[in-house]
Amino acid sequence: MDIGFIGLGEMGAAMVANIVKAGHQVRVWNRSPEKAQPLAGLGAQIVATPAEAFAGDAVFSMLADDAALREVITASLLEHAPRGLIHANMATISVALAEELATAHASRGVHYVAAPVLGRPDVAAAGKLTIVAGGPAESIDRIQPIFDALGQKTWRIGSLPQQANVMKLAANFMLGAAIETLGEAAALVTGHGLPMQDFLDVITSGLFPGPVYSGYGKLIAEQRFEPALFKARLGLKDVRLALAAADAVTTPMPVASVVRDSLIEAIAHGDGEKDFAVLGQIAIRRAGR
Ligand code: NAP
Repeated sequence: MDIGFIGLGEMGAAMVANIVKAGHQVRVWNRSPEKAQPLAGLGAQIVATPAEAFAGDAVFSMLADDAALREVITASLLEHAPRGLIHANMATISVALAEELATAHASRGVHYVAAPVLGRPDVAAAGKLTIVAGGPAESIDRIQPIFDALGQKTWRIGSLPQQANVMKLAANFMLGAAIETLGEAAALVTGHGLPMQDFLDVITSGLFPGPVYSGYGKLIAEQRFEPALFKARLGLKDVRLALAAADAVTTPMPVASVVRDSLIEAIAHGDGEKDFAVLGQIAIRRAGR
């Protein structure tokens, strides 16, 4: 396929590398152009404006948040995009903005697909992302070859793009809640003089196996929060978006509020650029250690 890709951060850069390796032609744009250079070495074509990426069969975006999308995906950009182009936004954004973008795209003849992903940059680099896609089935069919280059599975969530964003935000809320409880449990056991590693071995061997407890648990036990693969400030963004989506359907999420406040505390201590795992350290600091 002939595609554009916008946003070459931790996730975007790893994703483009796999798309190029799968034999597709990719035009890449990033706000900070130096991040595109290594991808040019792999065969991607660097373009100077987002408008040049909005061409060909489809364009994919992996920008940080709602604000970044609003800055890049302007009415004028959509106005000049070729009719029938598909835009698949793979970033984690608000349900409200996904709905707004779907309408704005449709009014200009551009098809909008929401395809947020589960998996960190190392999972993206391995081409093993879990993709949750929402939007018209015929649009998703057309870009499935790109999803196949990026992920192990594409879950088709529904015909409305924002439905995929709801699913993604629910998953990331659970991730934050898991790290929060891991941190509190770690504070408890280490407060009684037990090694964190022993605790991790016990819980991950039977009760809580899987990548979340073992992966984040290891980072917390080793106090290894840099370099960040998923920044704490992006984790806070996601929990806030989950709370906003819950508010829209009058649904209390008290645990999400706790996780949000812990992340605000992390950021107040200057830890926003550290890995999401830093959330697991908050309880230990609250215990005065
Ligand atoms: P990142 O490394 O911080 O990259 C953010 C990207 O957004 C960069 O390309 C950055 O450009 C661009 N950007 C930010 N503000 C912008 C603006 N105002 N105008 C234009 N471009 C702007 O983030 P990431 O980890 O790749 O995450 C990208 C998305 O994937 C986020 O929505 C995140 O929640 C989601 N996600 C991340 C992970 C993960 O583990 N990292 C996993 C699943 C989903 P510059 O290079 O110029 O700063």
